[in-house]
Amino acid sequence: MKVLVIGSGAREHALCRSLSLDPAVTALYCAPGNAGIADVAELHPVDALDGAAVAGLATKLGAGLVVVGPEAPLVAGVADAVREAGVPCFGPSKEAAELEGSKAFAKDVMAGAGVPTARSYVCTTPAEVDVALDAFGAPYVVKDDGLAAGKGVVVTGDVQEARAHALACGRVVIEEFLDGPEVSLFAVTDGKTVVPLRPAQDFKRALDGDEGPNTGGMGAYSPLPWADPKLVDEVLETVLQPTVDELRRRGTPFSGLLYAGLAITSRGVRVIEFNARFGDPETQVVLARLKTPLSGLLLAAANGTLADLPPLRWSDDAAVTVVIASHNYPGTPRTGDPIEGLADVVDQDAPDAYVLHAGTRRDGDAVVSAGGRVLSVTATGADLTQARKRAYAAVARVRLDGSQHRTDIAEQAARGGAA
Ligand code: AMP
Repeated sequence: MKVLVIGSGAREHALCRSLSLDPAVTALYCAPGNAGIADVAELHPVDALDGAAVAGLATKLGAGLVVVGPEAPLVAGVADAVREAGVPCFGPSKEAAELEGSKAFAKDVMAGAGVPTARSYVCTTPAEVDVALDAFGAPYVVKDDGLAAGKGVVVTGDVQEARAHALACGRVVIEEFLDGPEVSLFAVTDGKTVVPLRPAQDFKRALDGDEGPNTGGMGAYSPLPWADPKLVDEVLETVLQPTVDELRRRGTPFSGLLYAGLAITSRGVRVIEFNARFGDPETQVVLARLKTPLSGLLLAAANGTLADLPPLRWSDDAAVTVVIASHNYPGTPRTGDPIEGLADVVDQDAPDAYVLHAGTRRDGDAVVSAGGRVLSVTATGADLTQARKRAYAAVARVRLDGSQHRTDIAEQAARGGAA
């Protein structure tokens, strides 16, 4: 089967890496891709947001499956365009992707499905904002209603800051604060059958100790030694299946990757948010542990045949990924800096480490930074301690002027605690 992956981040590199190792995949393409993906897939410079262009490329290449990585093309209807061209596509329709595209829509679906989530108000006027902030009290949680790449959310004890963010956004969701550690759980679904993957935890803040501004994600690990072993079954029953059933009931069936961002609160599991695609960087660690070939799983979701698949097979290994970001990220990142040491990452001490590229591009013989998150250094090991050691040994070999990374990814979890 020929597979076309849409996107250009480390998530898409992880998807491409897994697909390139899959015996059923005879040709692998990516649009637009990046300098690292070019090592495993043929790149095509197509605008990922242009449904007609993506569908045209898929047809021209004879792709048997298109996998849409990021949320923006999904919300723009790229998966619909591909399916209309008769090509199986992994990724929800424009309408179903509103589960991520609109926080208000997600809240409505959760209410209909009886899914546990934070109580919330949708606000559009300053008066509504004040009522909502007052109702919940500090810490305040204010979310931009639209897509904001994980950066539209402000959690603060300062009511003036909360109010200012709400007024700057226009339409916002204001909700109660959820305490407890966060878990990302992905599920592959064809709109009916739901196949959960293994849980992971990501690190959204820029700096060690969960300090600094929110980012797209600075690292991740899996498994979660501190989590209840029954967590996945519980979330399947109380969150994932009811949500998929509710969307089908509404006439907007969701197929593709349903990502539940969860808080394990003192009062039980609550949904923080849904995403309509693989998470970045959690995908890097989840796919590092998946032994079942990826193409068959994604194709079954696209074709509505997930119920026929045997159970997924998983490695017992742990996986850790550490994001190397540009100078000044998550502010306007500095780009164009050369990246050195990429070839030195794999050595005797770190046989299971590899570098997934995000914001990189080729400049002559050099690979240079081209975005905020530049690389996702990923490693596996017998446990989190070993995986961390390998990941950080590899990070130390990469040189990018002015770059930053967190030094505490999976540190507490390796000692048995939740982050
Ligand atoms: P979201 O874009 O909805 O995932 O929010 C980004 C981050 O803000 C989450 O990963 C949480 O760390 C935090 N957050 C969002 N909603 C809440 C909430 N209700 N209570 C506490 N923290 C939250």
